[in-house]
Formats: sequence, C-alpha cells, structure tokens
Amino acid sequence: MRTDAYRPARALVRDDRTIPPYYESSDAEAELPERLPVRGMDARHALAVIEDQHYLDFSERLNTASYVTVVFEPEEQEAAALGMKVNLADQTVYPQSYEIHDRCVQMIGKLWHAPNEASGAGTVGSTEACLLAGLALKFRWRQWYARTRGEAKKMPNMVISTMFQACWEKFFRYLDVEPRFVAPSVEGCEADGRGWRLDASRLDAVVDDHTIGVVCIQGNHYSGHYDRVDEIDTALQKINLDRGLQVGIHVDAASGGFVAPFQSNIPPWDFRLPTVLSISASGHKFGQSLCGTGWVVWRQRGDLAEHVAVSVSYLGGTCDSYTLNFSRPAAGIYVQFYKFLRLGFEGYARVVKNMTGIAAHIRRGLQDMKTQDDKPYFQILDAADGDACLPVVTARLHPDLALPFDDIDLQHAIAQERWYVSGYKMTFQHPLTHQVLALFHDQDDLEATLFRIVVKSNLTRPMADHLLTSVRCALSYLEDHHDGFKKKHRYTIFHHGAKAC
Ligand SMILES: *Cc1c(COP(=O)(O)O)cnc(C)c1O
Repeated sequence: MRTDAYRPARALVRDDRTIPPYYESSDAEAELPERLPVRGMDARHALAVIEDQHYLDFSERLNTASYVTVVFEPEEQEAAALGMKVNLADQTVYPQSYEIHDRCVQMIGKLWHAPNEASGAGTVGSTEACLLAGLALKFRWRQWYARTRGEAKKMPNMVISTMFQACWEKFFRYLDVEPRFVAPSVEGCEADGRGWRLDASRLDAVVDDHTIGVVCIQGNHYSGHYDRVDEIDTALQKINLDRGLQVGIHVDAASGGFVAPFQSNIPPWDFRLPTVLSISASGHKFGQSLCGTGWVVWRQRGDLAEHVAVSVSYLGGTCDSYTLNFSRPAAGIYVQFYKFLRLGFEGYARVVKNMTGIAAHIRRGLQDMKTQDDKPYFQILDAADGDACLPVVTARLHPDLALPFDDIDLQHAIAQERWYVSGYKMTFQHPLTHQVLALFHDQDDLEATLFRIVVKSNLTRPMADHLLTSVRCALSYLEDHHDGFKKKHRYTIFHHGAKAC
C-alpha cells in the first residue's frame, strides 16, 4: 500500500464478485452505528465507512494549527505496522524491541548532552513525559523536605510561565501541585527582546521551600519563543545557594527538543546547565515521527528517575519501567528509530533549515499585506527571524486598525480556503480556580487574540505561497462580509461539527 494518491477509493475496489461494492450494497444505507452491530460487514465496507468519516475532517496536510507530523514514507508505514503487533509491556518476549527503545533514549540523551548514561523512557506523548518528570520532581522534593524540614503541611508548588501547554493543567490538577504562574510581557517578542518568555528576575519572588521545580518551555506553543533556560539556571543556582534550596528545572521541549539541537548560536538550554534535571519532547512533532511518541530523559537515576521507576522482571533479571502505562504498541518507538536512522543529524538539520526559511517567507508575506491606505494588516508576534525559536509564525491583526473582526474570525475565513490556522485568545484558564486570566502581565484585554501558523516539513514553498494567497482572500472576504460572517460562522460550524448548523 502506498500513499493516498495512488490508492483507489476503497469502496470501489471489486475483487470479490460475490459481495457488491459498498455503494451498491445495503451497508451504504445503514446509519453509523452507536451499538455493536449484530452482524459484521465486508472488510472493504468497514474500511470505507471509516474512510468516509476521515474525509470529513480537515485535511491533515493543510493543518498548520498543530505541531504534529502528518506525512510519512512507505517504509515508515511498514515500520509502524511491524510495531503495532508488539506490546512493549512484554519486555521478556520482545527484548530487541526494548533494545530499540533504549537506543532511542541514549541517542536523545546524547543529543541533549546528558552527562552519563541517560535514564529515560518512550511515552505516548509529551503529556505523559511531563507528568512523569513532574512526579519525579514532586517525590524528590518530598524527600528533601522531610530530610531538612520535617513533614510537609502545605501543597507543594511548581513555577511555570502562563504560556504553558494544557498538559501542565493535567499535571497541576491530577497531582495536587499549586501552579505558580509567571506572566511574561507582551512587549519585546523580537529575538533579542525579553517578552513572551519566563523572566528569570521574577523567580526570586515565586520560589520557596515548597517549590518542586521550575518548568522552562523550549518553544511555547503560542509563538515558538524559547524560555531562556540559561538565565533561569543562573538565577536558580543563586537562589539555591542563598537559601539552602535544591530547586531544579524540567525543560518542556515538546517541540524544541528536536529543533534546538540542530540550530546554531542558541544559548545552552539542556543538560549542559547544572540545574536542568529532566527534559521531555514529542517524537510526533519535530521528531518527524508520524506515530504518537514522547520522550523523557533524566539527568540521573538516583533521586530522580528512581522515584518513578517500577522494577519489572526482564529475561530473568530485573529492569526499570518508568511509564504510566505498561501496555503500548512499539509502533512509535520503531518509527522514531527509523527516523533517526533515516535522517541522521544532517537530515534533521536540513529539515529545520527548510522550515525556518519557509517561516521567514510566510512572515514577510504577512508583513507585506497592507490595507488600502497602506497600513500593515498584521503585527508580528513571534521572535521574527531570530534563530532561537520554533519555525512558527505568530501574528495578530494590527490593533491600530481597530478592525471589526478578529484573528479567530480570520481563522474561520481562512478555513473556507481549506487551510487550518489556529486563532487564540490571549488568555488561559487557571487549572484550579478555572478563572480566565490574561496571558501577559501588561495586557489585560481578555478579548485580545492572535493566530499562529506552524511550519512543518510538509509546508513547502509552493504550499506556503498558496496559504499566503488564502490569507489575502480571507482578509478581503472579511472586509466585505464581516457582519454576516460573524453571525453565521463563529459559534456554529466550527464548534460542534456540521450537526450544529
Ligand atoms: C504539544 C506540547 C505538549 C504536549 O505534547 P503531546 O505530545 O501532545 O502530549 C506539551 N508541552 C508543549 C510545550 C507542547 O507544545
């Protein structure tokens, strides 16, 4: 089986003469079932039912809203199919699959400059990896607190910028940790600016002896800015020394973990910094793997990884399992290893260079879009053409224009051209109080919006040019139709699927 383009519609394949094709069968008339059907159906029909639903989604290749890899090579698909049959829980039966897992962990550890043999694990995604890293920090803190202060009476806390991804909302809620949010400045988004990042000078005020760690985001999902892990590291070393604490950093490098190692001139952000205790990343983002995979690597086993380790018997001996789940298919790990072998350092570097160049092209294209009286439509909010950021373009309709539509309307208008970009409000919901708060300390307009285009490897120059044309079309459409558009589209079609309209 090759890619979609070479494949006839399943429903029309007629190799078994006794069963009519889907469209000529009574199956085509049946409702999408809600309960287990009494009788089964032909294999091709079952697949056709799923395929039809799949085509009702937006096209994944035109989805610039998420960071997830959507293209794959035929050999990669074969690797995934091989891995589907292997349940990684059975370490004794599949020792070589586990060997592939361990080699991935070591490769990633070296890529991130882990000082020794790395302890780590392949997970379902960064969410599981972050939960595990956070758990290890929590247990490490609890032991330290018991040793130095006695029994803890209050909830521990963790410091993170308000640009956090939703996985941390799970962390704070599931694991009973108080979030200490540091809101960055909306000003100074450019490469040498101070905004949109966790400000190291604010740590002194938020860290205390109940702080289990500080999360640095190596590529926040809104704008791709990297937190200055080096500055946070310096600040924490001083705080630890002055106050007798032992607070360390987890780097949430979901996206940047497979971008930053291939960029030049960026400040150290990984295990080269002494207070960096763990790092996580998603294989299915810039790890270039199609299958959902995450990775977490700890600086050392002692007083870190060991806190989440469960011993399992393995070929007569024992070994550690770090993940939340035992059972999971080996597909993600096979495909990640395939990608490492296939691309090598140079391949990843080339892909990163391409994506960075395309992002710069899209950014320039947006900057060139002007109103009739020659004012720029957009204000760019990402780190512009600086190196130390993800290949994303983040912008907003220029506030000075006071347009009657916002970036979320723009997202929906662009969707009419079949491209999917993501519009966001510049707010977040507090995980514990559910209060809606501003992302930035110096911007309190809860209605302010932005939009983001993630440049993935499949967003080539011709595709980017088409996307820019689509943005232009969307703008002129909104200029002409904004009143009716808002009423008709905004709260219906895109929120609950086609049913709602
Ligand atoms: C995507 C993302 C996550 C969650 O990753 P999953 O692999 O989807 O679980 C966590 N943190 C950041 C910064 C992200 O961009």
